[in-house]
Amino acid sequence: MIEVQNLDKSFGSNHVLKDIDVIFEPGKVNLIIGGSGSGKSTLLKCIVGLHEPDAGKVFFDKQDFTHLDFEERIPIRREIGMLFQNSALFDSMTVEQNITFTLDLFTEDSKQEKIDRANFCLERVNLAGKNQLYPAELSGGMKKRVGIARAISMNPKYLFCDEPNSGLDPATSILIDELIQDLTDEFKCTTVVVTHDMNSVMGIGQYIMFLHKGQKFWEGSNQDMMNSDVKELNDFVFASPL
Ligand code: ADP
Ligand code: MG
Repeated sequence: MIEVQNLDKSFGSNHVLKDIDVIFEPGKVNLIIGGSGSGKSTLLKCIVGLHEPDAGKVFFDKQDFTHLDFEERIPIRREIGMLFQNSALFDSMTVEQNITFTLDLFTEDSKQEKIDRANFCLERVNLAGKNQLYPAELSGGMKKRVGIARAISMNPKYLFCDEPNSGLDPATSILIDELIQDLTDEFKCTTVVVTHDMNSVMGIGQYIMFLHKGQKFWEGSNQDMMNSDVKELNDFVFASPL
């Protein structure tokens, strides 16, 4: 389980996250939705420790992550897989190196074990045999898949995906959503996906949190969302292309 309590974050005078409380459902795909600039990426980065929150706590399976020092965080970090916004692949590395890079950082595995693991992950995202290609040779959907392969390379207990559908055509977008759902079931992980794609919301949104101007404005299922009378949520839903 992932729990966030009273989380606050500012950049200078820009108060980006305001007193966020949320419990993400274990073993499910949880969604964070909200307009551009509402603080979605910042919230993900605060949860995984890439930004330090100004106040508040983040718990992974009841363990307070926020107050651990760098060394103490490593065991939890190893259980976190993350797909960054825009995939964030290293352009100078091959597909395989983009994946084994994470394993180099966090494991003592042999070179062959790392390659075997990369092969398993690439197969899992339907990119078997693409090991030696460079990111520039890949389509947007393939880059997302490599990003996902890297995110699952450590067998994550917690999987975070920032805008996995951005820049993809609708058909590819649905395949990526299905992949995220399948991986969540397969790894039995707790998954948090940031999106503003309404198809994803209707397809995989078991728990949805709506962020508006840095505040948690609403939470519920996609069915509840359709019946909601929260104006800010409805404005967001109806402004978003299906
Ligand atoms: P979203 O992902 O919902 O589009 P972000 O979390 O990226 O929103 O950004 C929320 C706000 O925080 C924006 O006003 C953005 O300019 C600001 N912001 C995000 N990251 C940084 C940063 N590293 N330094 C300063 N301001 C930032
Ligand atoms: Mg973002």
